[in-house]
Amino acid sequence: MKIVFATHNPNKLKEVAAMLPHFDLVSLTDINCHEEIPETATTLEGNAIIKADYVTKTYGLPCFADDTGLLVDALNGEPGVYSARYAGEHGNAEKNMNLLLANLAEQKNRQAHFKTVICLNINGEQHLFDGICKGKITAQKNGNKGFGYDPIFQPEGYKKTFAEMSLEEKGAISHRALAIQKLISFLQKI
Ligand code: IMP
Repeated sequence: MKIVFATHNPNKLKEVAAMLPHFDLVSLTDINCHEEIPETATTLEGNAIIKADYVTKTYGLPCFADDTGLLVDALNGEPGVYSARYAGEHGNAEKNMNLLLANLAEQKNRQAHFKTVICLNINGEQHLFDGICKGKITAQKNGNKGFGYDPIFQPEGYKKTFAEMSLEEKGAISHRALAIQKLISFLQKI
C-alpha cells in the first residue's frame, strides 16, 4: 500500500521507510506536492492534522504528518507549536536558542519536554500518535551535533545534551523516535 509521509526531507523518509518494508512510502516531493502547506493551528495536533488532511484530500492517498515542539514549563509551554519560528525568523536555530536562554535567565525551573505528534489518515480513519522526551534546558549551549534546540536540551537521566549524542543515542530516546515507533506498531498490524 502506498502511503505519503508529509515531508520533503529525504533523510526523514529513508529512516522511516527502512522500518516499514511492507509499505510503499513516498514523500511530498515524490507525489509532486510542492506547495508550502500552511501550519496555522495553535497546537501540534492541529498542525499535524492540517498537513495529513491536505494530502489525503488533495491527492486521495493515505498519509501521515508530524509536528514537533519544545515545551518549557516555566514559560507556560512556550515555544511549543512556534518552536521553529520562536525568534521570528523561520529555521534560525541560533536566534531561537538565544531567545529561549534569555527568557529563562532568571528561572530556576528549567524543566522542559519535546513532543512529537503524528497524524495518520488511512482507510477513512484518522489516528494520532505522540512521543515525549522529558529533560531540562541547560544554562548554555553544549555540543554541535543534531539540529534545532539540541545544544540546550539535556534529556532526563543524562549528563549531556542531545547535541553531544550520536544519532543512535538520540534516536533511542527521542520524542520523534517514540512517536514513530507507535505509528510503525500500528501499521504493522494492518
Ligand atoms: P518539526 O515539526 O519537526 O519541523 O519541528 C519544529 C521545530 O522544533 C524545529 O524547527 C526545531 O526548532 C524544533 N525541533 C524539533 N525536533 C527537534 C529535535 O529533535 N531537537 C531539537 N529541536 C527540535
